Amino acid sequence: MHVEIIGWTHYARDDAAPEALLEHAGRTCYRSESRGDRRKFLQARIREGHESIIEHAAVTFEISGISRACSHQLVRHRIASYSQESQRYVDMSNPEFVVPPDIAQNPAALAVWDEFMGKVADTYHRLRELGIRKEDARFVLPNATATRIIVTMNLRSLRHFFTVRCDKAAQWEIRHLALEMLRQVYPLAPSVFDDLYQQFIGAE
Ligand SMILES: Cc1cc2nc3c(=O)[nH]c(=O)nc-3n(C[C@H](O)[C@H](O)[C@H](O)COP(=O)(O)OP(=O)(O)OC[C@H]3O[C@@H](n4cnc5c(N)ncnc54)[C@H](O)[C@@H]3O)c2cc1C
Repeated sequence: MHVEIIGWTHYARDDAAPEALLEHAGRTCYRSESRGDRRKFLQARIREGHESIIEHAAVTFEISGISRACSHQLVRHRIASYSQESQRYVDMSNPEFVVPPDIAQNPAALAVWDEFMGKVADTYHRLRELGIRKEDARFVLPNATATRIIVTMNLRSLRHFFTVRCDKAAQWEIRHLALEMLRQVYPLAPSVFDDLYQQFIGAE
């Protein structure tokens, strides 16, 4: 799995930090002035549920090497924008597969897995040779097939995503993804994510 932040919202005035923009949005509501207490101000707004102010900044991630099973869970989060590599248009003759750790660590299970995945690649290839279009040949590809996706979420949506997907109840792959996204976004907006960072990463 590879996760990289490739864009985020900048404030066009003096301080380009996303949190400067969020503070400005929040203070507009109260006609109040900053007294150098941005962190306290933003955290108080989040605590009291005035979360619309953190919707004004968004972060874009490029994610690759996650399974289609994982990306399916990811795109269930509706308050976001997605652009995913297409199996209709991209040739999948050499598919990469994400192997669950429990299978990778079990030699007998891994042998069964390798046998099946070999057949998948071979079947896809043979269907293509028979003139079957990529959009139909892809039907033989399993949930394990690796994918690439660009995701943009605003900070409020990200907080919700981390709350449910960094939790131990989440499935291992999306949890791994969510923890990595939280690790990377935290320095961009530490006031907004501090409680979640301490809860899910600080304690580890
Ligand atoms: C541990 C776990 C197990 C899961 N198991 C399953 C499963 O077995 N089957 C399955 O289908 N899904 C499952 N899910 C997915 C889950 O049901 C959600 O679809 C997914 O987590 C997206 O969450 P969300 O709808 O809260 O987020 P988003 O779509 O990002 O929405 C964010 C928030 O906006 C509000 N919102 C968005 N749309 C609406 C709406 N239409 N009406 C009212 N409020 C709205 C809600 O407050 C929501 O929490 C599971 C999720 C987790 C974390």
